[in-house]
Amino acid sequence: MPITTEDTLRWLKQLANVLHENRDYLTQLDSPIGDADHGTNMDRGFKAVADKLPGMENMDIGSILKTVGTTLVSTVGGASGPLYGTAFLRAGMATSGKHELYESDIVSMLEAALEGIKVRGKAQLGEKTMVDALTPALAAAKEAEAQNSGLPQLLRRTSNAAEGGMKSTIPMLATKGRASYLGERSIGHQDPGATSSWLILKTLADTCG
Ligand code: ADP
Ligand code: MG
Repeated sequence: MPITTEDTLRWLKQLANVLHENRDYLTQLDSPIGDADHGTNMDRGFKAVADKLPGMENMDIGSILKTVGTTLVSTVGGASGPLYGTAFLRAGMATSGKHELYESDIVSMLEAALEGIKVRGKAQLGEKTMVDALTPALAAAKEAEAQNSGLPQLLRRTSNAAEGGMKSTIPMLATKGRASYLGERSIGHQDPGATSSWLILKTLADTCG
């Protein structure tokens, strides 16, 4: 069973709830190595997305994701606004005109999103950012696709890999974003953006898997 427009809207609605519930947690993670606003940034952005969901029922999935991207760019602020905005815009371009997403579409969507973040933020793997959650997630999605694991398995393996990537940021030294201002003191803390990336993919698996 592919992911439909209806599934996409359910994912985004639930994601707004999950980010609201995790607002304080994400902000706490952003306290020691940032400016304690990642939770409020994400909550504000996805609340604005949730407000636009009614009225998107007849849109194709690409157009929905592009609307998410423009909404995040205009409401989130900080570093994560333009980064997630670009990610969703690119994901929307990769799924342009589609009303159903299959395994290969999920891989293309993730690949485009990650590429957008890397172009925009210039971060590579190992710099303690959302790239560290999304890179293993993409690899897991590709592997699951190659093994014909089926969509629910692909989404779960992608989410689990993102969780592993998120945890891998704890011992990392930050060399991009605000956390890099702390140098060695950034070591020992989990990256907030890697954490929100995991929540996005976990909620995708939970709602569409
Ligand atoms: P700000 O850092 O401007 O306060 P947020 O707190 O909302 O913005 O987001 C911080 C997160 O953004 C970090 O945890 C990190 O994952 C991500 N980030 C910051 N800079 C970059 C970058 N250049 N490339 C990729 N991700 C980045
Ligand atoms: Mg911040």
